Amino acid sequence: MANYDYDLFVIGAGSGGVRAARLAALSGAKVAVAEEHRVGGTCVIRGCVPKKFMVYASEYSYASKVAEGYGWSGGPATFDWKTFLEAKDREIARLSGIYVTNLQNAGAEILHGRAQIVDAHTLEVAGKGTVTADKILVATGGRPWLPADLPGVEHAITSEEAFHLTELPKRILIAGGGYIAVEFAGIFAGLGVDTTLVYRGANILRGFDDDVRAHVGEEMKKRGVKIVLGCQHESIEKTATGLVSHLKSGTPIETDAVMFATGRAPHTKGLGLEAVGVKLAESGAVVVDKFSKTNIDNIWAVGDVTDRINLTPVAIREGAAFAQTEYYDNPTSFDHDMVASAVFSQPPVGSVGLSEADARHQHGKIDIYLSRFRPMKTTFYGGDERCLIKLVVEASTQKILGCHVVGPDSPEIIQMAAVALKMGVTKAQWDSTCAVHPTLAEELVTMRDKYVPPGLGAVA
Ligand SMILES: Cc1cc2nc3c(=O)[nH]c(=O)nc-3n(C[C@H](O)[C@H](O)[C@H](O)COP(=O)(O)OP(=O)(O)OC[C@H]3O[C@@H](n4cnc5c(N)ncnc54)[C@H](O)[C@@H]3O)c2cc1C
Repeated sequence: MANYDYDLFVIGAGSGGVRAARLAALSGAKVAVAEEHRVGGTCVIRGCVPKKFMVYASEYSYASKVAEGYGWSGGPATFDWKTFLEAKDREIARLSGIYVTNLQNAGAEILHGRAQIVDAHTLEVAGKGTVTADKILVATGGRPWLPADLPGVEHAITSEEAFHLTELPKRILIAGGGYIAVEFAGIFAGLGVDTTLVYRGANILRGFDDDVRAHVGEEMKKRGVKIVLGCQHESIEKTATGLVSHLKSGTPIETDAVMFATGRAPHTKGLGLEAVGVKLAESGAVVVDKFSKTNIDNIWAVGDVTDRINLTPVAIREGAAFAQTEYYDNPTSFDHDMVASAVFSQPPVGSVGLSEADARHQHGKIDIYLSRFRPMKTTFYGGDERCLIKLVVEASTQKILGCHVVGPDSPEIIQMAAVALKMGVTKAQWDSTCAVHPTLAEELVTMRDKYVPPGLGAVA
């Protein structure tokens, strides 16, 4: 074998890259990881983790309203953004430090700087020079996408800046309808910011079950988020009093901040992949096989840069599967079926498996079980919130194809439901499980009657 500086060179110390690098190094391989920003990647530094802290921070305003119904009082509570930012940044630094320690303890070398592929075995790392490697793993993640040709787009922020605003705006407009847009709308509204969500589509959360999408939208409005659908930006104008979003239809909206959460793109630009002939999709995503291998024999890619399922646990499992295959003589491919996910909207969503529409399309005749009800916790204060639970069942086999929950703790609930769905549970097996009472989740195992949408009669 040729003599290289490293057995494995990983580009990007995010969820996928760190897991692959650690496992490979623990096998005895000589591993280096390049990171141009901070070790931990999107999830730890500017994604899941800081976002979840913001969700927690923002939930207290609603919780205090609910608490009043139970007899609590205490005058209007106030929120200090700077105190929160400091606490959040301290914790993010601690977590990033743990990632660094774990990599070092495994024996992997961290090279701080942007890496670029020069040829199939050579890389250039900014500030560090040229290095060679037997194998290369691309784990560079994704980047927020902004409509570059939109006049005034330079005034807009993305989720990356939203984590570091020096001050909390009084009014914000969030453009987008995906989970990041919806989560940030809940966060800002909960923190007392006058929040408007503008989305070009007919409903938010594209890709989720239609009942879930409609339900979340309605519940968000009850919590004060203004939702404008079927509408797109024409320009953003900076005025003496704020930012005016001119939309293709409807009246202009003035706010203090405009945040674009209109999608993310694989981070492949300027990496040198084209130069070595790595095949990219039109979106810029690295095309890989089920072992995360590219068309070039010694180059692999995992995580968001491959645009398969863009979630942290998926990137981690893809990274682990790569290391198992290449360094433990254990060919492993990650199964992307039945991956559960959550939207930390307010109320949150937990979802696994197929939506009703996809199930009808792929499996023909299906049965639907659906229930909407008031969450027990909020009964006293007089709100009119509703939970939603829905099961999508294949009629011929009675296998549960999809499970969708909107309501308190649904991300926690769905993790366990995913175990059963992954094992191919049938409705009868599911129903044979005794309920836990009094909980929201018990409703999942007590739905006996098939759902018939109002006005439709029996559905095939
Ligand atoms: C706001 C937000 C909220 C999210 N919430 C959730 C959630 O709740 N749950 C969930 O599962 N997922 C969530 N995600 C998605 C999750 O963060 C990603 O799926 C995950 O981080 C992907 O991991 P990765 O290893 O592919 O890439 P990343 O974690 O993005 O890591 C890539 C790393 O590569 C580095 N890099 C890029 N190019 C180079 C280069 N040329 N040289 C050196 N370094 C480079 C980057 O700086 C980065 O650190 C969220 C994402 C965002 C943006």
